[in-house]
Amino acid sequence: MSCQEARELLDAYLDGELDLVRSLEVETHVKGCDRCCLARDEYDVLQHSLKKHGVYFNAPKGLEQRIRSRLRSDKDSQRKHLIPSTFPNWRPVSIAASIAALIVASAIFFGTLLRPSSTNVLAQQVVSSHIRSLMADHLTDVASSDQHTVKPWFSGKLDFAPVVKDLAAQGFPLTGGRLDYLDNRRVAALLYKRHQHTINLFLWPTSQADSEPETLAIKGYNLVHWTQSGMTYWAISDVNASELRDFVRKQRQ
Ligand SMILES: [Zn+2]
Repeated sequence: MSCQEARELLDAYLDGELDLVRSLEVETHVKGCDRCCLARDEYDVLQHSLKKHGVYFNAPKGLEQRIRSRLRSDKDSQRKHLIPSTFPNWRPVSIAASIAALIVASAIFFGTLLRPSSTNVLAQQVVSSHIRSLMADHLTDVASSDQHTVKPWFSGKLDFAPVVKDLAAQGFPLTGGRLDYLDNRRVAALLYKRHQHTINLFLWPTSQADSEPETLAIKGYNLVHWTQSGMTYWAISDVNASELRDFVRKQRQ
């Protein structure tokens, strides 16, 4: 079953209107397809909120009449064919339900559009953490330029072992490490220097696929974000963007 077929049948599937074979086909597809799974969940939320809140809108006066006369005047044979046999039983309530569904669907759709993406929310958190570490004069819990001191320091404090690289030879000396809290979890913060500038490198495990470095600028800070080998990384500093990208290149090697 293709995604398009699955989407077309989702409504009927959720309403229990499909026969067993069709229903199983949709179920099997949705289980194996993230996008259709998401669509199913959205339909589900929509159905629940309609049931829960009993959303009801009165159709505008004369709408039914207008639709009826419009359909009657349409002599196109194809359209005739499409008019369901139950047409004479149409009631304002079914029109109203369609309008209600449309309004709720639009609200969900635009709500999704307007909601800040999780990456943006996270980027703001990274900026706050960076600023806090500079202001509170709490850059490091373990101050050392030795990766063999910094890495073991994290064991027992985190549920993962961060990769700690010293890039002194490449112009970015390691100065220490710190525990931090981002994305609702404990993360490792590694501290590097570039001349007089501080670079915070935050990292923690992720189930997301590898992604190429992406550069952002927020409140005068440059950020580079990427995912590599099951770890998500955020580098932030007030060094210029090209130097920070250089730092990231060396981290990734
Ligand atoms: Zn699909």
